[in-house]
Amino acid sequence: MRSLSIFGATGSIGEQTVDLLTRAGGADAYRVVALTGGRNVARLAEMARALRAEVAVCADDAGLPELRERLAGSGVEAAAGTAAIVEAAERPADWVMSSIVGAAGLAPGFRALRHGSTLALANKESLVTAGPLLMAEAARHDARILPVDSEHSAIFQALVGEDIAAVERIILTASGGALRDWPLERLATATVAEALAHPNWSMGQRITIDSASMFNKALEVIETREFFGVDPDRIEVIIHPESLIHSMVGYRDGAVMAHMGAPDMRHSIGYALNWPERSHLPVARLDLAQIGQMTFRAPDLARYPALRLAREVMARRGLAGAAFNAAKEVALDHFLAGAIGFMDMAGVVEDTLTALDPGLGHENDAMTLEDVQAVDHLARTRAGEIARKQAGER
Ligand code: NDP
Ligand code: MG
Repeated sequence: MRSLSIFGATGSIGEQTVDLLTRAGGADAYRVVALTGGRNVARLAEMARALRAEVAVCADDAGLPELRERLAGSGVEAAAGTAAIVEAAERPADWVMSSIVGAAGLAPGFRALRHGSTLALANKESLVTAGPLLMAEAARHDARILPVDSEHSAIFQALVGEDIAAVERIILTASGGALRDWPLERLATATVAEALAHPNWSMGQRITIDSASMFNKALEVIETREFFGVDPDRIEVIIHPESLIHSMVGYRDGAVMAHMGAPDMRHSIGYALNWPERSHLPVARLDLAQIGQMTFRAPDLARYPALRLAREVMARRGLAGAAFNAAKEVALDHFLAGAIGFMDMAGVVEDTLTALDPGLGHENDAMTLEDVQAVDHLARTRAGEIARKQAGER
């Protein structure tokens, strides 16, 4: 029986993974090793019982008594804290879903690679902050990383049977997020609720705001660079409001392979779960005659400064990705708290990158998990100062 773990089981991706596992037979079809959550202890305990997990871990230490109580008599071990999450990743599993949100997802995914597990990677922050490190670790242990982000799953699928050397360009599609049709001058006033009204995809709160600002696409451009090893100038972004083409690969003979499907993350999760086979998945089928048309437009960089910043990060490489992601997370926290405006987020990230610049010229091959965590910490402190200053000036 195949064994598996889910890090971030209580989130949007985690829940959809659990949904697919449950439909495929749950605990009768898979041996579930570890399930982890953050604060939602009740849901974590419920899924751990249903899937008969060996261990359930919540990130929040304060949740342990409740988790223990909810798991009493079930035979599922309970644990709490960040260290316990990494320990859970030390338990071997054939397939590991990495779907914690943010930089907190890096350490458990990194650890899981040591067993030569297949790492289904939704946590794009892992590749943005520590791409060279993660890819080297996977190679060292003969482990495999399968992309779960829909764009990267699409690219991965469009590359099957092809030679990466024949790739001329990779075209990432972007919905443009909730505010894509707003006049530019109104964006500064956008509220959290307005930025959360995503037109096509139902996702966690943080990534939904990141879609509206295109910080999500910025992360994905860097993720593409790290995962597929292509040159940054071969990576393009196009706005495709219908979100039916999930990304494209252009080859040197002019052919473009596009991956299409309904905007449902269970496709890419299921593809990673069943790979290299394809199994039936409960996603809607496209009715092209009914859809009628698809549209595309070039992204306006004044509206989406995050895309320009991604280019700078790729030019610097090394630990710039860790600083970029950490500053982005802090800026997002301040926006969610109502302290800074929607368009201020890019300013906080840019100023943090500038402030930290001299410290980021780290050699890629010398990068360690500790280096990444140190830069992450430094950037969070700096971004916090910058964001508080911004908030004071409002
Ligand atoms: P959610 O916010 O819905 O879920 C995040 C998960 O991580 C939850 O289980 C949460 O626990 C847990 N968590 C939060 N903070 C911590 C922490 N500090 N330590 C440990 N666990 C924590 O996020 P999504 O599912 O939307 O996204 C997960 C990842 O997948 C992100 O990297 C995102 O970019 C990526 N992704 C998501 C897509 C989507 O459609 N949602 C699409 C493509 C990529 P709890 O809820 O119990 O507090
Ligand atoms: Mg995506």
